[in-house]
Amino acid sequence: MHAGRAFLSPPLWQAWSQEVSTLLQRHQRPVLENLNVRGMQVPAVSQGGAADSIQVHFDYVAAVQFLEEGDGQLVSGSKEDQRLGEVWTFERQAGTKTVPSGGVTASVCPNCGALLKLNDDGQCDYCKADIASGRYDWVVTRMDSDWFRGASTAAAFGAAEMGAASGMAAIKASDPQFDVEAFRGRVQQAFFALQQAWQDRDLSASRPFMSPGLYLGWSTQVQQLMDLHKKNVLEGLRVDGIDIVKVVHGSGFDDVTVRVTATTADYEVDEQTGKMIFGSRDASQFIEYWTFQRSVGVQTTGRSILDKVCPNCGAPLEINQVGECRYCKAAVTSGRFDWVLSRIEQEDDYAG
Ligand SMILES: [Zn+2]
Ligand SMILES: [Zn+2]
Repeated sequence: MHAGRAFLSPPLWQAWSQEVSTLLQRHQRPVLENLNVRGMQVPAVSQGGAADSIQVHFDYVAAVQFLEEGDGQLVSGSKEDQRLGEVWTFERQAGTKTVPSGGVTASVCPNCGALLKLNDDGQCDYCKADIASGRYDWVVTRMDSDWFRGASTAAAFGAAEMGAASGMAAIKASDPQFDVEAFRGRVQQAFFALQQAWQDRDLSASRPFMSPGLYLGWSTQVQQLMDLHKKNVLEGLRVDGIDIVKVVHGSGFDDVTVRVTATTADYEVDEQTGKMIFGSRDASQFIEYWTFQRSVGVQTTGRSILDKVCPNCGAPLEINQVGECRYCKAAVTSGRFDWVLSRIEQEDDYAG
């Protein structure tokens, strides 16, 4: 239980220790069975005054029991799973910056960076920083029970997860020029462009519509193909269907996930011998989930990255090493000006 001390405020720590020692005196022990956190949301964030505070609501399912130490008899609680909720209030001193090392939750002192070890006064053993004061990192100042709200995790970040129709309508409401058919056409354009770039082992033409993270992953794989002197051939590639399956309308970004059904013969050849080393020349169908991302509030214009036009200044699109338009320095690959491809999931990996 000492593990909790670094992120519990001193009064809460005392109350909690008190509860535990009362149980020990009564020779009872608490048991939490089948704990399963089902969702969370952030009902309140407040800034100002001496402290920043965030309330986090957790939905969880568990069987909470208090057992007699000796014979294991149930004293109170239930052996059945119950839907429960709890609200934790986190506070930290105003102006505190998030610790890049991960801070207390990563068992690192948020002040000196040493492996976190607390002395009896709740201070870092090395630098004597008063960790649980909220001066260095978030601490929990209250834990209150709440009802099970059926919260979704997307909602925790101020985002609403929607089906295709309501999601498309939400985007169109803030971007009247947005057109679903035109969007599906852009998806197909991106699909063929990226599959061609992959076969050519040259991503430069596709990079402007790839998020920096996706580009990094793909360029690593392209480099591996080159190192192994392999080429991946997609022969007779055709798209059989493009279906919008999910929209997450967030406070910062809109994410649109599309199911692409396509057919191709997929094989690898050794570029030195020209021989097929993997795959098959027979066509087969496959499914991938592609997610496109754009900042909330961006308007559809006639300027599309996919047409190699800068969506900000309208110049022919050329980007520099960090993904900015060479002319106007707009961060084209960030999603702040036009849709970019941010994620590709294979059918088996797609969580829905
Ligand atoms: Zn320290
Ligand atoms: Zn530009």
